Amino acid sequence: MKYIDEEKINNLLADTAKIDSRKLDIILKKAKSFQRLTLGESAALLSVNDPEYTQKIFEAASFVKDAIYGRRVVLFAPLYISNLCVNTCLYCAFKSDNLLIKRKALTIPEIKEQARWLLRRGHKRILMVCGEEAPSGKSNIDYYTEAIKVIYEAEVGKHKIKRINVNCAPLSIDEFKQLKASGIGTYQIFQETYHEQTYHRMHPKGPKSDPDNRIDAVDRAFTAGIDDIGIGALFGLFDYRFESLGLLCHVEHMEEKFKVGPHTISVPRIEPAEGAELSLRPPYKISDDEFKKVVAVLRLSVPYTGIIMSTRENALMRDALLSLGVSQISAESNTSPGGYSAGDQEQAGGQFSLGDQRSLDEIVGALIAHDYIPSFCAACYRMERTGEKFMQLAKPGTIKGKCSLNALVTLKEYLDDFASVKVKQDGNKMIERYFGKLDNVDQKMLGLLFSHVSSGVRDEYV
Ligand code: SAM
Ligand code: SF4
Repeated sequence: MKYIDEEKINNLLADTAKIDSRKLDIILKKAKSFQRLTLGESAALLSVNDPEYTQKIFEAASFVKDAIYGRRVVLFAPLYISNLCVNTCLYCAFKSDNLLIKRKALTIPEIKEQARWLLRRGHKRILMVCGEEAPSGKSNIDYYTEAIKVIYEAEVGKHKIKRINVNCAPLSIDEFKQLKASGIGTYQIFQETYHEQTYHRMHPKGPKSDPDNRIDAVDRAFTAGIDDIGIGALFGLFDYRFESLGLLCHVEHMEEKFKVGPHTISVPRIEPAEGAELSLRPPYKISDDEFKKVVAVLRLSVPYTGIIMSTRENALMRDALLSLGVSQISAESNTSPGGYSAGDQEQAGGQFSLGDQRSLDEIVGALIAHDYIPSFCAACYRMERTGEKFMQLAKPGTIKGKCSLNALVTLKEYLDDFASVKVKQDGNKMIERYFGKLDNVDQKMLGLLFSHVSSGVRDEYV
């Protein structure tokens, strides 16, 4: 596979079978000064099995997470627009040869209705997702850009969607330019597995069967001017240590060629998918403890890259992973196109089953209870703090201050307009607590934003 040196990864994993306490401390000290780790150092951390050493890794990851991201956690919801697909990925319910699910590509008005449903719940950030096949008579890119336009147009009172990230199949450079022009935030594409032989086995037919075309999509998106890119691996297809190093090799390639790494890394684990036999028995099932280690090692290896956790994971796991490095989570997801408002009878097939079924309000409440600030902010994207500019800001910790203010003001808007009584009470207490910790300048700024919110202004940010 292009850009991924399998032999190097295998050698590193073989070399680091053992790590002593001195070596571990040196690596963790480096990570705690927010320096990028080498592949060898990340491999060494991944090889740790001793519970005492693992605990040290977890503590270091929590330290880095807190120092760079503070207590904020960004919330988003996926919007599945279609489950039509020409590919046959063995793990996915949308695969073309799966006759068990009901197929549906939402019409443009239906997409708007789904966006309005999410707005009514309080969502502001959407991840648009779909299979690789447009409704008949339309090209993929036309379908995507029409969908994005209508989602941004959707309104509920003073509320509008602030940022649409997109997870869709690879496009050409020209098509990526159109996607960028439609106003997307991050373009996300998961390589699924960085192990070439496994890749071929998992993707037997369709355009996705070419791993180089898929990995090159990231380069094409950059070339087209999309500088916030999200990558990911689907954990469970191959050895988790190999996949983690594959992700980090991919990061190195991006840094070398484009001077900026990925904006986010996603770490989905395979979940049961209707009609996709392999998803019920993933060939390399990763345990909860191994999974926590992966998140912690990624946090230490690429401190400035956001880590995304979806509702594939259950509530307990998601809470644990937040302290180890996750910075963005989805909430109240539905993986069936139209699923937010459809009754049980009319539900189209979902992509996989979900571990966390809580409502947005419940998740906001749980975050507050764990002293995390739920954030609906999209200020960086709107102020064009993206790509390298975002990373430059993120590095000295500057972004953390702005993020906290934006998180608090977007939380205030959520509490005033959408929260249940209890969440509103707890959230306002949290806001008071964090307000008290700010310096005078920030207090003044936030006080001003809050007064705007109280007088009915919405969508405030710095
Ligand atoms: N169809 C496009 C593609 O494959 O790139 C874009 C969207 S696809 C619906 C989004 C992601 O869902 C895939 O990249 C894959 O990692 C993930 N996925 C597929 N089947 C899954 C399963 N059974 N459990 C968890 N994640 C799954
Ligand atoms: Fe289609 Fe994507 Fe599912 Fe593969 S993972 S079958 S490409 S929707």
